[in-house]
Parts: sequence; structure tokens; C-alpha cells
Amino acid sequence: MQTIDRIYINGVFVTPHGKDELTLIDPVTEAPATRVVLADEVDAQAAIAAASSAYRALQGSTRAQRMDWLQRLHEVVADAEDELSTQMIEEYGGPVRTSTGTAKRAAASFAAARTLLADYAFERQIASARVRMEPLGVVGLITPWNANIGFICSKLSMAIAAGSTAVIKPSELSARQTAVLTRVLHRAGLPPGLFNIVTGRGDTVGAEIVRHPDIAKISFTGSTAVGKAIARGAVDTMKRVTLELGGKSPTILLDDADFAKAVPLAAMAATINSGQACLAGSRLLVPRARLEEAHALIVRAFDALQVGDPRDPATVIGPMVTRTQYERVQGYIQRGIDEGARLLTGGLGRPQGLDHGYFVRPTVFGGVHNDMRIAREEIFGPVLSVIAYEDEEEAVRLANDTIYGLHAYVFSGDLARANRVAARILAGRVFINGLYDEPAAPFGGFKQSGLGREFGIFGLEQYLEPKALLGYEHAL
Ligand code: NAD
Repeated sequence: MQTIDRIYINGVFVTPHGKDELTLIDPVTEAPATRVVLADEVDAQAAIAAASSAYRALQGSTRAQRMDWLQRLHEVVADAEDELSTQMIEEYGGPVRTSTGTAKRAAASFAAARTLLADYAFERQIASARVRMEPLGVVGLITPWNANIGFICSKLSMAIAAGSTAVIKPSELSARQTAVLTRVLHRAGLPPGLFNIVTGRGDTVGAEIVRHPDIAKISFTGSTAVGKAIARGAVDTMKRVTLELGGKSPTILLDDADFAKAVPLAAMAATINSGQACLAGSRLLVPRARLEEAHALIVRAFDALQVGDPRDPATVIGPMVTRTQYERVQGYIQRGIDEGARLLTGGLGRPQGLDHGYFVRPTVFGGVHNDMRIAREEIFGPVLSVIAYEDEEEAVRLANDTIYGLHAYVFSGDLARANRVAARILAGRVFINGLYDEPAAPFGGFKQSGLGREFGIFGLEQYLEPKALLGYEHAL
């Protein structure tokens, strides 16, 4: 069993003060895989102190210096893409296609931030005022397990571009990925304290970051419940917060869509990262007049999804991350049955041929009403609810009838109509007639899917504070 007993503070790998241990289980074999010594509040305080003194020391850093740091980070992460994706596959069972994509995006985020920084106007004239965009100070970056490496890199890239220093609290379930990523980032040879990485639990290290007066901003990605707790805690010291939270995203098939093309894409949208994705399209809205056709196609698409060894490139659905998550998904499948939804495919238990590991059966429920819990709550597994609607008005109403607003997918044979419907969806991102990736576009949620945006210029500005200078050119 591998042991992880180092954290990264002030450019040095140190033994944590914390003594608590966590054993991470291999989700494929269910055997103990990694022993993690967890950092505690004292470690968090040491990391915050290191980041604070680095912030003071680096406050005058130039754009060119920060571009150089970002370039170096890009190069070391790009060189390690294979190593990083292997860790994701082995630690939480992320399928090859998801894990390689996440590692690539992690490296690309530093390059994208560098490009953005090259042209960003930190100073501009607004009427009679000179407005300067200033860094916030030390930022706390808290990530979830489902794309831990990707979020560490994207958040850190923006913090550095803005001129901040960072304390990173990765998910404790991602200790092994984090350990490898930390060694990789260390190779960039950046000034000590610019970024610090402290793996520990949310209620210790995370809570200390939320509480500490020297943290100016928190960028959090994770569940809506924890996001709310962070927002409440952050208000005492008026920290800026960016919250990237959960979703229950709708995929709308309009009645003129080519279902043969759209339904397989809807199945992919529902099962990204084995369904453990914030942007999963977990509600499929189908015109009642074409329900039977949609049912047949979605069942065919789900039944074709290969479930199993995440190392096999053909695998689409790997295991759930932990036993708890496996049981949570089983609980929702049982709830769907109890609520009277119709099991179209999948169901309880493991897929045939898999007698161990946290594997669940890709499951589609038909006859779902939007007020059932399986249609309202984030399941975070490969479970899709098919909901029938009568007309376009009802489709839009059902799509928006959720506490979330992270993402949506719209398919139509008439592009103008698809665009019209997309404009009416309350979500931070809408994919029209396809699945895309645009790292320069803002990412984040309406409603309880979050606060603020990440990526691109909107993401960068979340790390900056405007200061207006009046009389800037007024000599007495
Ligand atoms: P989680 O909320 O349980 O944990 C996320 C992080 O918060 C972890 O590092 C955890 O240790 C930490 N944390 C827990 N309690 C804390 C506290 N009191 N104070 C400070 N930090 C605390 O989420 P998870 O299970 O790791 O990830 C899955 C969730 O993340 C899903 O809900 C998913 O939708 C969401 N997510 C959202 C996005 C997005 O961009 N919107 C992306 C990926 C995942």
C-alpha cells in the first residue's frame, strides 16, 4: 500500500502536523490502496502564513514574470500528462477518455491563462476615473475529487495571472493524484510560498481556510451543501467567493430533432465521467409524441455503454469513487422504483459479470415526473430520468423547474429554434446540437449551481478587485 505523508508549504515537502489517517480504497478491487496522513488546522495556518509572506514579497511581480511562471507550469504539467491521467484512472477509476482529457485541460489551463494575461488591461479609463484591477491577496482554492487535477490547475492559473498567491486544499479523496501533481508543479521552480498544497479534510483544513482573516478569496468547486456552508463562513471576513456547485441539467430534445443523432449525444452527456460530473445531462426532456422512439434509442445507447475496468480505453463507465457513492446511487435507483418511475434499463446491483468493485448499472428511468426526487436531486452516477413534455413551452418550463442552473443541452433540426430555446434556459452554459469544449468561455452556474464564473476573462476578473482613482492626473 502506498503512503502519502507529505504536504507542500513554502516550496518544501514537509511532514504534516496532523496525525489523522485515511485509507483510500481502490474502487475496482475494493482493496486498501493508499494510506494518507491528513493535514490539520495548524498545517493550514502554516500554509496561509507562507502564502501571505510570498504575497508581500511578490506584490510587485510584473506581467512578464507571471507569464513566465505560467509558461513553466504549462510545460511541466504538459510533460506529465500521461503520469497524471494514470493516477486519475487508478485512484478514482476515471475512465481513460475522461482522465486523459482532464490532464490535457490541466496543462492547457496554464497556457490559456498566459495568453489571457498577455493582453489583459489591468488599467483602463472609465469616464473621468482611472480604474485599476488589483489582485485580492491570498486565495484559498478548494477542489472536489471528480476532476481534482483539472480544478487545481485551472484555479491556480487564474490566481497567478491575477497576481495572487494560493493555498490549495484538494479533495482528501484525491491524495494520490495530488501528490503526483505537487511533485510536477514543484519542478517549475516557482518562488516559495506562491502556491501551497495542504491535503486534509474539509472540516479541518477547509474550515480553517474559510475562517482565516488572511485569506481574501475562496474559489470552491464541490457540492451545493458545502458551498453554502463556505459562503456563510466567508461572510464574517467578507471574503470574495466563487462557488462552482452541483447541477441537474436538462437535455431538451425538440420535436424536430434528429433523434438518431441526438440521443447518443444525450447518453454521452448523461454519463460523462461515469455520470460523476457536475454538468451531466441527467434529465432527458422528450416530446410525448415521440416518446417510444426516444425510449428505444436511449435504451440502446445506454446498453451499449461499456462498464468495467477504467484502464480499458473502450470503457465509458468506470466504478463510482467510493462505497458511499456506490450506495448513494443504489439508493436513488431504489427511490426511483419506489416513486413509481419505470425502469427502462439498468437497475439495482452491479452489472452482469462484475462481482466486485463499485460498479453500478447504467440506468434509465421512464415515466419520470419532474417533482420526483430522482428528477430533482443530483445523483452523481449514470442514472438518467426521461421526462415527457407536451409542447415547447412545457419543455422550457420543466428545464427551468430546478434549483440548479449549471448546464443544459438543446437539440433541434431548426437551428434558429434551438437558439431561441437555449436563450430561455436559466443555466450558465447551454450546448446547442452537440457536445463542445470552450475553455475561454465562462463556466459557472445560475441559481444554486453557484456564484461567479471560472475560465477566460470572466474567470480572471473573479480574482481582481477594481479600484477607481479620481483626480489621477490632477496636479495641485
Ligand atoms: P464536496 O462538497 O463534498 O467536497 C468538495 C471539497 O470541499 C473537498 O475538498 C472537501 O474536503 C471540501 N470541504 C468539505 N467540507 C468543507 C468545509 N466545511 N469547509 C471547506 N471545505 C470543505 O464535493 P465532492 O463530493 O468532492 O464533489 C462532488 C460535487 O462537486 C458534486 O456536487 C458536483 O456537482 C460538484 N462539482 C461541481 C463542479 C462545477 O464546476 N460546478 C465541478 C465538479 C464537481
